[in-house]
Amino acid sequence: MSATETTSGLVGESMARYTDSVCRLCRREGLKLYLKGNRCYTDKCAIERRQYAPGQHGQRRRSKLSEYGLQLREKQKIKRIYGLLERQFRGYFRKADRMKGITGENLLIFLERRLDNIVYRMGFSESRQEARQLVRHGHFEVNGKKVSIPSFQVQQGDKIVVRGKSQKLQRIGESLESVDRRGIPLWLEVDKKQYSGLVKAYPSREELTMPMQEQLVVELYSR
Ligand code: SF4
Repeated sequence: MSATETTSGLVGESMARYTDSVCRLCRREGLKLYLKGNRCYTDKCAIERRQYAPGQHGQRRRSKLSEYGLQLREKQKIKRIYGLLERQFRGYFRKADRMKGITGENLLIFLERRLDNIVYRMGFSESRQEARQLVRHGHFEVNGKKVSIPSFQVQQGDKIVVRGKSQKLQRIGESLESVDRRGIPLWLEVDKKQYSGLVKAYPSREELTMPMQEQLVVELYSR
């Protein structure tokens, strides 16, 4: 996929950014993907108001999807949750497939270990998209070293800290204040006063509560 491909409103591969309102993605999947931060928890959430797919034919009854169609939809959904494009997502699948263990679960762990995801999960941002931007702008360090690569794979035992002056950023402070609404996963530990967090462990499958059928992705890529 080229950096300027515009299918589905995508622009700029490295930025994994959607020009359409991200709420359309939730409506397309018929599921809250929590892409907009605090708004997702209010009655302003688009999916609470309109539970049909976007577009001219959105209110038509959905035809039954083929096996391939289901696999494709599930892949799209998981990609959208983590804000990734096809090339990146498939890269994680390849790595997951080469590892011991269950490929689908390995894939989800790779996605969860991305620094932008960890920043979001720890509550330093309201969404993964915002986390990606904050990481790129160099607001975090991992084990004492500045890291500005959103895809950086965090290890068990790593300490993530909001860097000195960045601790004054209003958006980080506000995110931390409201994180209890969604909760911090048990596999992470956050010290809000110190603007820091620890990766105690990698998540178990049961701890990833978004409805994701990763096995369908494995089946799709194994065709
Ligand atoms: Fe999805 Fe959040 Fe928009 Fe609701 S507000 S449709 S959960 S992105």
